[in-house]
Amino acid sequence: MPRSRPVMRPRMGKDSPMNLVVLAGGVGGGRFLLGVRAVAQAANTQVTAIVNTGDDVWLHGLRICPDLDSVLYTLGGGADPARGWGLRDETWTVLEELAAYQAEPSWFGLGDRDLAAHLVRTGLLARGLGLSDVTEFLCRRWRPGVRLLPASDDGIETHVVVAVEGRAGETRRLHFQEWWIRHGARLPALRFDYVGAEEAAPAPGVPEAIAAADVVLIAPSNPVVSIGPILAVPGIREALRRCPAPIIGISPIISGAPVRGMADRCLAALGVPCSAAGVGELLGARRNGGLLDGWLVDSADDPTTVRDVPVLARPLWMTDEAATQAIVVDALALAHG
Ligand code: GDP
Ligand code: CA
Repeated sequence: MPRSRPVMRPRMGKDSPMNLVVLAGGVGGGRFLLGVRAVAQAANTQVTAIVNTGDDVWLHGLRICPDLDSVLYTLGGGADPARGWGLRDETWTVLEELAAYQAEPSWFGLGDRDLAAHLVRTGLLARGLGLSDVTEFLCRRWRPGVRLLPASDDGIETHVVVAVEGRAGETRRLHFQEWWIRHGARLPALRFDYVGAEEAAPAPGVPEAIAAADVVLIAPSNPVVSIGPILAVPGIREALRRCPAPIIGISPIISGAPVRGMADRCLAALGVPCSAAGVGELLGARRNGGLLDGWLVDSADDPTTVRDVPVLARPLWMTDEAATQAIVVDALALAHG
């Protein structure tokens, strides 16, 4: 595929800005957005990221939005690249003090610098601001260079239903964060519930951004717990299915395994094979009631087929920003056939 072709073909005049919408989770979504931002800056393109809120959780009286924060910190240049989450130059004094009080929960890593975002967010929410306004406020500090929208201002929490050990037939539910962090996703998940999603509405601006998009990209984020909760908000899937823009997904699974994290354990609960084809089929072809107009998989997964979806195989390792930019260029090339 020639790399010199125009990145995007404007629908209107060549000077009018293009609109690119990205559905994203946290760390994977944030890294992908670094590449999207770089491509967009060179192409008079505005980017709106619609970010998962299913990971959101109340801890120690604070509202914590792990995926929004990961995206904010990554794009704002504050993320710790080695740890993969949270802020660089972090200290842990408050966490140590909480441990001295034996304050629960103790399994969530709350850094001192990170705490500032949670304090500001919780304070603004208590004053009646919506999460999208709060996010806009946090963006004034981090200047992510893209418009960040939570999928919904209404609290959505992903819960995991697991079997109770030693008691046949009994189940219990726990917050996704507890399952993922405290238990390392080792308790076999029977089901994921996006609690609150049914009554939730898309955050202000979300349907409008989708309707005005020239291209929609589904980041290589966890399909079950990052992309799933976004699509569970009534109105978002419908807006995507209606939008005139092509929708291109990027596979988070390479050679049958998640690049990082435990998406395999999440997919298992849905009975979906942990493969580029499995996730492509889960998202489905737009013309068959699904979402995809194109599916980008890694070169190692060539040939992958997804029913009624054009598939392109290209390198999908986000090893650095240049590699991620190339992925975005390939996704846009697929979008324009
Ligand atoms: P989280 O919310 O912090 O877990 O992050 P996301 O859901 O946005 O992203 C996690 C997903 O990103 C995992 O399923 C990984 O397989 C995927 N991922 C991470 N790094 C890469 C990469 O370099 N290439 C691809 N294709 N996927 C990746
Ligand atoms: Ca997440």
